[in-house]
Amino acid sequence: MKAKRLILLGPPGAGKGTQSQRLVDDLGIPQVSTGDLLRAARKAGTELGNQAKAFMDAGKLVPDSLVLALVEERLAEKDAREGYILDGFPRNEAQAKALDDRSIAIERVVNLAVPDAELVRRLSGRRVCRDCGASFHVDFHPTKVEGTCDRCGGETYQRKDDTAEVIQSRLGVYGEQTKPLIAYYREQGVLRTVDGTGEMEAVYRAILEALEL
Ligand code: AMP
Repeated sequence: MKAKRLILLGPPGAGKGTQSQRLVDDLGIPQVSTGDLLRAARKAGTELGNQAKAFMDAGKLVPDSLVLALVEERLAEKDAREGYILDGFPRNEAQAKALDDRSIAIERVVNLAVPDAELVRRLSGRRVCRDCGASFHVDFHPTKVEGTCDRCGGETYQRKDDTAEVIQSRLGVYGEQTKPLIAYYREQGVLRTVDGTGEMEAVYRAILEALEL
């Protein structure tokens, strides 16, 4: 099988995580989410996790050296041999260049476009499972039992960085540092933009179309 190296690009709250999980099931390649890897490192209390903490809680980017170390380790794992879906990485030009420098050829970058007002609505109502990472929303996709994950029965919580002030900071960081990657990958000829505002199912179909697999 030809390797599939894909990137889901887009602002926080665009649905990268949710849509990646569906791609994992359908394509049989892993999702590599730097946000999830960082949260796991924090939970495990590793040195890297402790160093990342303050940046994450403020909605700032964690330094590239830390993130690149995590990504490198993850991509070296066996299940990533046939490809992977990068979710939340790269987030600035230096990270994108790090992939290029390692001759990691990305086949497709899907840019999920969602307007700011919608992102704020989504992020401020988001609840996430502590155990399996599944994502819910208090209004749009509530859990059947409040505070309990529908998928695994774990406890759901509001991420510290999903609060109003930190959301603004994250959107600012996105605009300044991540958004320029749209042009970066357009120039490489691998970018496709998908409207991320519709029904989850319709967005997923549009993503599959954009991937042209
Ligand atoms: P996410 O779960 O993708 O929204 O990421 C949560 C937080 O983790 C971000 O606000 C950053 O502080 C940090 N983070 C995740 N991915 C990266 C990355 N590629 N580079 C730097 N920081 C990151």
